[in-house]
Amino acid sequence: MISRFKTSLLACALLSTAPGAGADTVLDCQHLLDVERGRMLEARQIWIKGNRIEAVASEVEAPADAERISLDTCLPGLMDMHVHLNSQSSRNAYIKRFQNNAADWALTGAHYAAITLDAGFTTVRNLGDAANVTVALRNAINNGIATGPRIFTAAKTIATTGGHGDPTNGYRDDLMGDPGPAQGVVNSPEDASKAVRQRYKDGADWIKITATGGVMSLAKNGQNPQFRMAELDALIATATDYGLDVAAHAHGAEGMKRAVLAGVRSIEHGTYMTEEIMDLMKDRGTYYVPTISAGKFVAEKSREEGYLPEVVRPKAAAVGPQIQETFSRAYKAGVTIAFGTDMGVGPHGENAREFEYMVEGGMPPLEAIRSATVTAAQLLRVEDELGSIAPGKLADIIAVNGDPLDDVSLLSDVRFVMKDGRVHRGR
Ligand SMILES: [Zn+2]
Repeated sequence: MISRFKTSLLACALLSTAPGAGADTVLDCQHLLDVERGRMLEARQIWIKGNRIEAVASEVEAPADAERISLDTCLPGLMDMHVHLNSQSSRNAYIKRFQNNAADWALTGAHYAAITLDAGFTTVRNLGDAANVTVALRNAINNGIATGPRIFTAAKTIATTGGHGDPTNGYRDDLMGDPGPAQGVVNSPEDASKAVRQRYKDGADWIKITATGGVMSLAKNGQNPQFRMAELDALIATATDYGLDVAAHAHGAEGMKRAVLAGVRSIEHGTYMTEEIMDLMKDRGTYYVPTISAGKFVAEKSREEGYLPEVVRPKAAAVGPQIQETFSRAYKAGVTIAFGTDMGVGPHGENAREFEYMVEGGMPPLEAIRSATVTAAQLLRVEDELGSIAPGKLADIIAVNGDPLDDVSLLSDVRFVMKDGRVHRGR
């Protein structure tokens, strides 16, 4: 049953009705990274027909009039499993909530979507937006009227009153109101089910919850548990009914453990992850999306006078520096790690810096690249369509000059981006 619903949802997120690439294309790659088998292949041609890969061989039998492009090292399009396309932190970011209409958030999202694709990220999972604008953005990109990566979106995050993701945290009394399930604020199992159903109705591909306090919200606690077990159980049971997977933001251990036990598919940030939780995640196949980039960014900004609100600053200083260390422990313990940056906290387009932080944290470059290709595709349940360069798969392909297995920072200098068979940059 679940798989049938899944298929229809995936079709929604993957379906592109954009005018496809016209003629055939042949990419002449000096090197090709086979992320599935973990090896670098020499002198391979990739033949792309429409939006799919037709063949990969040392010499493909493509039509004579096919466009031919010479590249150095080809690899699958990168996949960032945690972004917020419709915003980016700045000194005045908190004021924007009082100034921006849905159209402002949407146009901001379109801008950052283009920057993200330009950086070689052909797929993203958007975990929380404003006014559901990333649903419209996803559709506009799929329809070919906006430029950006394939988007899998959770639309508006689900939180509890006063929790990380309550949209009126920190407001004065007459503006605070009492947001409910439609706005992503729940306080009972019934509310939790309703909020999930509302997101299904809104066109979300995923559900995002804030299982613990968070850094950037205008609230004191950055790590307390914020959902009761009964609320999580109802939320996940309903999400399962609708074929939606759940991603849980979590810093503190108690809320993180509850989320894993309830059956979320991924833990985001995972700052104070204990060994017990790592074991639970391995048992249950829960993915870990570390977002070291966000940790580094907020730690740096916590030292800058006046950048972050005073209630946020101590949380940023405590949580920020911890994430890379947690990543290292989780990697050594064998937790499945999928690449994610939380861009929107840090600057969009610098997503690939995360690779450097992962390698710094002890993960070999090949594994870091796998976390942003094959593993990310598995997290999204689209490994049959994306995540590697193979015949029959969607043609999301990038190229860099040089060997990213020697120097992973080369991924911050992507020279060629193809998405859905269309050359976005580097022709
Ligand atoms: Zn986030």
